[in-house]
Amino acid sequence: MKTAKICDSCKTVLRSRDPINEFAKRIATLAFCGSDCGNETQSASDFSPGVVESDEELASCVCHPNHTDKDGEVVYKASDFAFTHGMSVTRLSHKDGGLESVISFCRDTFCKPGRDYRGTYVFKASAPRGVFWRDGTRAFMVLDTAGKSLIAHADVIATRYHGDLARLASTEKLDRLKAQISFFRKMKPVDESA
Ligand SMILES: [Zn+2]
Repeated sequence: MKTAKICDSCKTVLRSRDPINEFAKRIATLAFCGSDCGNETQSASDFSPGVVESDEELASCVCHPNHTDKDGEVVYKASDFAFTHGMSVTRLSHKDGGLESVISFCRDTFCKPGRDYRGTYVFKASAPRGVFWRDGTRAFMVLDTAGKSLIAHADVIATRYHGDLARLASTEKLDRLKAQISFFRKMKPVDESA
């Protein structure tokens, strides 16, 4: 993969986090940028170690109640943030302390009081990238969204059907659910009992 920086207009979109729960919707516009900023061969951040390769291992935090059903079981909702705030993931090969430090972050910081830690899940970037809508277009992008102090940061971003699932039309809801279930099947919980 070649690495090039994205265009100024997309950088502005990327840097804006206001309103935070529409970040995914905004960033999905990169997919339609004339300068090809959403094709994932572009490095989206000046701070990043490069584009996210498809065989890279990514880790994400899972908390209750955001990612669980009413019985507290972790479900497809583990990717809900890909439709709202952006689903933050850590690129394990670029993270000091590796998986251990991600687990500590998830447990002690991300699932902060008010939410319960339900695990750290890992998957390859190819997992969300391999999910498609029924018309054959990509359901998710994995974009390098490194920050100055968070160089291993990336986001999984849905390309359609943003916002609350409950507010979508029923056919859209069904399509989104299918995509999220398909992605979730490829997310593996880290065994922390070892
Ligand atoms: Zn662009």
